[in-house]
Amino acid sequence: MPAALETLAARLTRARDATHAAGLEALLLTPGPDLRYLLGIAGESHERLTCLVIPADGDPALVVPALERPGLDGTPVVDLGLEVAEWADGEDPYALAATLLHRSGSAAMRTAVGDAMPAAHVLGLRAALPDRTQELASTVLAPLRMRKDAAEIAALAVAGQAIDRVHARMGEWLRVGRTEAQVGADVAAAIVAEGHTAAAFVIVGSGPNGASPHHDVSDRVVRPGDLVVVDIGGPTPEGYFSDCTRTYTMGEPAHPDVAARYAVLQAAQDAAVAAVAPGTTAQSVDAAARIPISDAGLGDRFIHRTGHGIGLEVHEQPYIVTGNDLVLDQGMAFSIEPGIYLPGRWGARIEDIVVVEANGARRLNHRPRELALLPV
Ligand code: ZN
Ligand code: ZN
Ligand code: ZN
Repeated sequence: MPAALETLAARLTRARDATHAAGLEALLLTPGPDLRYLLGIAGESHERLTCLVIPADGDPALVVPALERPGLDGTPVVDLGLEVAEWADGEDPYALAATLLHRSGSAAMRTAVGDAMPAAHVLGLRAALPDRTQELASTVLAPLRMRKDAAEIAALAVAGQAIDRVHARMGEWLRVGRTEAQVGADVAAAIVAEGHTAAAFVIVGSGPNGASPHHDVSDRVVRPGDLVVVDIGGPTPEGYFSDCTRTYTMGEPAHPDVAARYAVLQAAQDAAVAAVAPGTTAQSVDAAARIPISDAGLGDRFIHRTGHGIGLEVHEQPYIVTGNDLVLDQGMAFSIEPGIYLPGRWGARIEDIVVVEANGARRLNHRPRELALLPV
């Protein structure tokens, strides 16, 4: 379900204006989230070049392989009136993109390519435009994509509700005697059943595996007294991602230090959410999460940034990390996900997606944040 046509048209205009303001000649974007943001379709990325050319001065055009031209019928590309420049197998698509650039007549000698453009296309474009320098398109697009409009925030809220429903049902699958992999397979199916198009990631980190923040699943059997970190998410049909972590305990925790330390973690997550406001910096939100954990002597056990932006990608700008002095603005959406990780013993994390509103953060995840006790 693509964004409304007028929304896409306005985004294309803003992208062009920002390209101009940055002193760039053009943006060159291959299939992926940038294309989905601007054209309503992600396209398919492979060895044949599909490339949206957005000149700073002139109209955008889409370079597409001839065999994919029929696939554009019925997409916003047609209704946007976008020029489509086809190329057939055996022709040089990079030369075609260069021709579209040259006709804009811009004097700028700097182009920007999508951050995740495959290297084969980056180098192909470089060879076709040998006198141009290449930069990252995120300098132009991230400021636009970071500030979500009302429809995007609504889509993120729908994603948040869908993943909350999966966490609410966790006791159906997360049980003593089952392996992480068995639990994960059921959770993945539920992620789809509750309104996602796919399960993008399913982390079930039980016992000592919880101390590895990006643990996947394993054949470890869940035992009584385990803490289990469950971090799950995926895209909804509109393309917007969910991402939510809750930590469960299988009966009473086996380790006597869990209760006090989990309370510290919860205080840290609340403190970071409370620190969110328009005008504050990303790194000050990160610092807010660290203070309670450091005060408890666990500063070196919180081994990752506090959060990441989310939207058409599960990880995008703004990153909530030390050193990022980006000023937060209304409409920005990101995770707040501090964790405490004790190698060989246990780990815990609490993650919600929040949106920056005039008065502070609005959480898009609403499951209880206390350690979730499941019966053994
Ligand atoms: Zn992560
Ligand atoms: Zn997560
Ligand atoms: Zn996350």
